[in-house]
Amino acid sequence: MITILGCGVSGLTTGFTLLKNGYQVQIITSELPEDTVSAVAGAIWFPYEARPVDKVNLWSLRSFNIYKELSEYPDSGISMIDYAIILEEPGKPWWLDSIPDEHIIADTVSGYYKDDYPGYIVNVPLIETPVYLPFLMNQFLELGGTISKKEIRSVNELADHDLVINCTGLGSATLFGDEALYPIQGQIVKVEPDPGVKGSATDFHFGENHQEMAYIIPRRDGIILGGTARPGIDSKIPDHILSEKLINYNAEYDSRLSDLKVLETKLGLRPGRSQIRLEKDPKLNVIHNYGHGGAGYTVSWGCADSVLQLVRAELS
Ligand SMILES: Cc1cc2nc3c(=O)[nH]c(=O)nc-3n(C[C@H](O)[C@H](O)[C@H](O)COP(=O)(O)OP(=O)(O)OC[C@H]3O[C@@H](n4cnc5c(N)ncnc54)[C@H](O)[C@@H]3O)c2cc1C
Repeated sequence: MITILGCGVSGLTTGFTLLKNGYQVQIITSELPEDTVSAVAGAIWFPYEARPVDKVNLWSLRSFNIYKELSEYPDSGISMIDYAIILEEPGKPWWLDSIPDEHIIADTVSGYYKDDYPGYIVNVPLIETPVYLPFLMNQFLELGGTISKKEIRSVNELADHDLVINCTGLGSATLFGDEALYPIQGQIVKVEPDPGVKGSATDFHFGENHQEMAYIIPRRDGIILGGTARPGIDSKIPDHILSEKLINYNAEYDSRLSDLKVLETKLGLRPGRSQIRLEKDPKLNVIHNYGHGGAGYTVSWGCADSVLQLVRAELS
């Protein structure tokens, strides 16, 4: 029996992948999906704040293709949408390599909003997290996986398990004493849905300390407007004045956003790390899969595949 720690997008995707490949899997987790950082995300497929670049591109491309397949199933919460990525200056961003050519729609953001911008219009997966996380959890349970709610307080508690996959996100800082892991606080505001509003994101930061950006994720339950990325800040108290700012930033692109009713403000701590940790622990019976920064959904399927390779090597 393989034990996965954590029931966010990383734990569930890894669990599903291992079950599909014939392993028996249980998840042990302190929080169920709806209470995780994964439930705060928008989410759009986009490799943001995750490294190393070469691996992130491969993991992202693998995930892209699986999300595209999932978009054929309406109950998955996945759809493919045209999305504008606005650059500060014209140029070729590194993440373009992880998008299949036929999904790069235009190499300028022209005619999308009332003004033109440097950037790209790409056709990418939209992951409606309130639908996708329960979908993924049900798939996991239907394949025979089990989930128990429990916080693991010490690595000593893991000694009796055959093999453990660590998908605890920011929880790894305490549980595994990883000092390289740090929170990247992110706030978003959700406004009422409007089918006319199109998606976009700035691929650059601005505002106070260059920790703010503008992004619009049009979901069926509401439009997610972001956002912030504040490294080292671990407060979970939302700032309502900031929410006003986020609406204003995005209304620069689509003025209708200012008139939409605010539904909620949410805040989450992304698991920041100089590199995603995906390796067998040299001392423990643990394979790590955490530190996905602002791209946990974007890399999830690719990372789960890499875990599968490590599991095969361990158990062969
Ligand atoms: C505002 C915001 C917007 C975002 N937008 C996007 C986006 O558009 N696209 C994208 O790809 N990503 C986005 N992200 C990033 C993404 O949400 C994260 O990278 C991802 O959720 C990390 O998933 P995870 O499963 O690794 O961690 P988490 O979702 O944090 O899950 C960790 C799990 O581990 C469990 N756990 C922790 N410690 C223990 C313990 N000691 N014992 C037992 N269980 C434990 C927790 O209970 C939880 O179940 C966004 C994040 C934020 C905050």
